Amino acid sequence: MEDTYSGVPSRLSKEAAECRARLLGNRTLPASQPRKHGVRLPPDTTLEQFESAIQDLRGKLGPDNVEVNDKALVDGWYLEHPNTHDAFHIVDQEELVSSAAVFPGSTEEVQIIVRWANQYGIPIYPISLGRNVGYGGAAPRVPGGVVIDLGRRMHNILKIDGENASCVVEPGVTYFKLYEEIQRQKLPLWIDPPDLGGGSVLGNAIDRGVGYTPYGDHFANHCGMEIVLPSGELLRTGMGAMPGPDGEDNPTWQSFQHAFGPSVNGIFSQSNFGIVTKMGFHLMPETNNQSYCFTFPHDDDFEQIVDIIRPLAQQRILGNIPQLRHAIQELNVTGRPKSSFHSGAGPMTRDEVRSAAKELPLGDCSWVFYGTQYGPAETIQSQLEVIKAAFGRIPGSRFFLPSDVPADHYLHSRSLVCAGVPVLRELDWLNWTPNGAHLFFSPIAPTRGRDARTVHDLIAAAHARHGFDLFPTLCVAGREIHYIANIVYDRADAAEKRRAVRLMREMIAECAARGFGEYRTHLLFADQVAATYSWGDRALMRLNETIKDALDPNGVLAPGRNGIWPRRYRGKGWELGAEDVDMDRIGPKA
Ligand code: ADP
Repeated sequence: MEDTYSGVPSRLSKEAAECRARLLGNRTLPASQPRKHGVRLPPDTTLEQFESAIQDLRGKLGPDNVEVNDKALVDGWYLEHPNTHDAFHIVDQEELVSSAAVFPGSTEEVQIIVRWANQYGIPIYPISLGRNVGYGGAAPRVPGGVVIDLGRRMHNILKIDGENASCVVEPGVTYFKLYEEIQRQKLPLWIDPPDLGGGSVLGNAIDRGVGYTPYGDHFANHCGMEIVLPSGELLRTGMGAMPGPDGEDNPTWQSFQHAFGPSVNGIFSQSNFGIVTKMGFHLMPETNNQSYCFTFPHDDDFEQIVDIIRPLAQQRILGNIPQLRHAIQELNVTGRPKSSFHSGAGPMTRDEVRSAAKELPLGDCSWVFYGTQYGPAETIQSQLEVIKAAFGRIPGSRFFLPSDVPADHYLHSRSLVCAGVPVLRELDWLNWTPNGAHLFFSPIAPTRGRDARTVHDLIAAAHARHGFDLFPTLCVAGREIHYIANIVYDRADAAEKRRAVRLMREMIAECAARGFGEYRTHLLFADQVAATYSWGDRALMRLNETIKDALDPNGVLAPGRNGIWPRRYRGKGWELGAEDVDMDRIGPKA
């Protein structure tokens, strides 16, 4: 851990080695293949212009800190991930690629890179770690963009304040790293990891990712950012906008999220309006906790489960944002391949899932609810009584504590994540198919049985049409559900990738027709998703475009991210819509 900024802590090295062996053992593709094409140049840039721009950048940052992307592409795996392309490619591996990667060592160097990009009109694409798997990984939306790999050299924990229960991190700080440092300092504080612990604390929050402790809304729990604007100017948000005494950071920077005047924080999340170089977060004081799960016997229990969760969540009796999963996920979190449960093509049948689930610790069931309670033991006990009484209204429901299931059951890893301990377990999904990769389809539904049913049925029908197993994980809050469908596909199978794209395109359109929109999406679906937020003659996108053009007149910063295109690119055929199911070439259409 000491000498590597993005690996795993020693407590997980055995698990990581096993996980790697399983994944690589399940690969039929070679580690890399010769490139079909040379360097993908930035748009409207000749090779000579590109080479002289790169030479200039090497002069400014040092030759080792700029790497041209001209070697064979290696997908690697989660902990050895590329910064050259989307490792979970859903189109040809060589389509969503950068022309080069640059490694700034400081905020000043980020400013230098941004000014360089403006000078040459070359698009830049900032990543923190680039482990945004399922949403585009490290790839820039515009092929040939220059990736700014912030994490490689900017990975310091700048501050942990035990009294304020907060921290300030640079982009390359992973959940693993922050967790280990808090343990080292023996501070009674928790972090809030998402399902996998190798991502960037800052990058995940910027992309509005979620975790599972009571501090699970990562952007809501941020406090203060330092941002390089597309002009190269520097901004501090929140109380950081006020200078501290004697040139120090403002003493309330990590205490209060806002400044005076409009709250501008939000426009830097899921956008392309700035590069975040420092970010503050609130940390939860550690507390007693108890994870548990309930199973429900019938697929049709679904509406009732959702309707029971709603008041429990609104009254804050549920301690965290719980997960509701289908029984099929009990199979794939074992890390076993689909071929061990099913032979032949096509999705598993309901009967196959049923008979395989029967052999597993939770037994034959349809839905599994994973929750965690927090606080003193008596509080947890009395809350659990209320929750058990509520779910007990569903005939055949069963309750399990971690002590009721074997040590390798998923409930134990949920128990860690929900108590702020970052893990790797969720990678086991990927063993489902050879060369496994995944895409997330993530609409928001109201927490109401009938609405959840509408979304679920539509997603289930689309999966069946395209021959994919449906893996739904519902993160259910009091008023909304993040419905996450994990589409697992074989990277070596071009036809399967095309089917996955069709499936995504259709689900986006069909959900939007009913008023359900995605909270986040893969780069290549961002235009389509953004276009569904069209109320008032695209009022929201027109505002985003106005801001984009004002802040980034040369259109250099992450063009196309979240569907926001700068003036220079708009209307030139870059946008990808519902009709773009065969994305053989990512670039302007004639
Ligand atoms: P992680 O490795 O934590 O999953 P990434 O580094 O891939 O996350 O970040 C996810 C996405 O968020 C990136 O693709 C990028 O668009 C955006 N992003 C990440 N870090 C920054 C940053 N420091 N400034 C601006 N945008 C960022």
